[in-house]
Amino acid sequence: MMQSPGMKIYILDAFHPAGVEYAAQHAEIVRWDDPQVNNWAEHADGVMVRMTPIRAADLARARKVKVICKQGVGFDTIDLAAAKAHGIPVLRTPGVNSEAVAEMALALGLAAARRTAELDRMLRAGAKIERPDILGIEMWRKTVGIIGLGAIGTRVARKWQAAFEAKIVFYDPYVSVGEHRKVSKLEDLLREADLVSIHVPLTDETRRMIGAPQLALMKKTAVLVNTSRGGTLDEAALHEALAGARLFAAGLDVWEVEPPPQDHPLLQLPNVVATPHASGGTFETQERSSLQVAIQVVDVLNGKAPQNRLN
Ligand code: NAD
Repeated sequence: MMQSPGMKIYILDAFHPAGVEYAAQHAEIVRWDDPQVNNWAEHADGVMVRMTPIRAADLARARKVKVICKQGVGFDTIDLAAAKAHGIPVLRTPGVNSEAVAEMALALGLAAARRTAELDRMLRAGAKIERPDILGIEMWRKTVGIIGLGAIGTRVARKWQAAFEAKIVFYDPYVSVGEHRKVSKLEDLLREADLVSIHVPLTDETRRMIGAPQLALMKKTAVLVNTSRGGTLDEAALHEALAGARLFAAGLDVWEVEPPPQDHPLLQLPNVVATPHASGGTFETQERSSLQVAIQVVDVLNGKAPQNRLN
């Protein structure tokens, strides 16, 4: 086993044992449950992170950090420019949880369309259920609009198509036409789609890209699914549309503030299916991506070129 002599890997969040063990076999580790972990900037050579923010102020204290690797693909929790200014490569693990997120996007979409969670809540509460009053919407041969046709969006599109013969339309200025029909204006997708599924990264361009004017274009019978980042849509505007029956339902895994408070207005609506940023949470992805983070960090500490670099 090649140990990097004197190297320390700080693991800032709870990782699956697969990656923790791999890191421990190759370096000294400081785990998230050790109070010393807060001093990572001063002492770490390598950093493994999930959701702990890495800000410019933390990076300013960094003395010898050679690599930071984030589990997953979203990177809005890390100040990439500050890391770059300090010469610290920031890596991620693209692709490892695409399948899990895509499956959740379908689960939320179907649960919202067929009112699965609402019926479950009613049944548990002993409510009187008049079935004709709580009808769902079928997805068979409907139009699914994908915003952001990357790793996850592509899988979501294929699944709707394969399982429901759905027509796919996508909006992504950075992807050329391929197996699906592209629209050059988001507005066209919103007008046409029976279900809209958001799969963009959170950037200045995508922040609140779905607000009141965009929601107003959607069909009253449409379902909105967001498994990207909470900041991509305006929650207050979505609440208004759903409460006013100007949109059928929404399936939301991500929130402007996470976890969303229990009294969050959207959580009071029957036509919202909510999960707590849990799309990547399968047994398969936790093991796969934890190990991938550890391998990428150890490789850099052993002098290899950084893989899946963000900055
Ligand atoms: P990806 O980089 O493969 O795909 C993102 C796509 O969005 C790209 O094709 C890109 O061209 C497109 N895009 C960028 N800006 C756009 C814009 N302004 N308008 C339309 N399209 C735009 O990433 P991915 O692996 O598919 O993941 C997508 C996002 O999902 C991530 O950035 C992350 O924030 C989120 N995510 C959430 C979870 C979760 O647990 N809920 C897990 C993984 C990823």
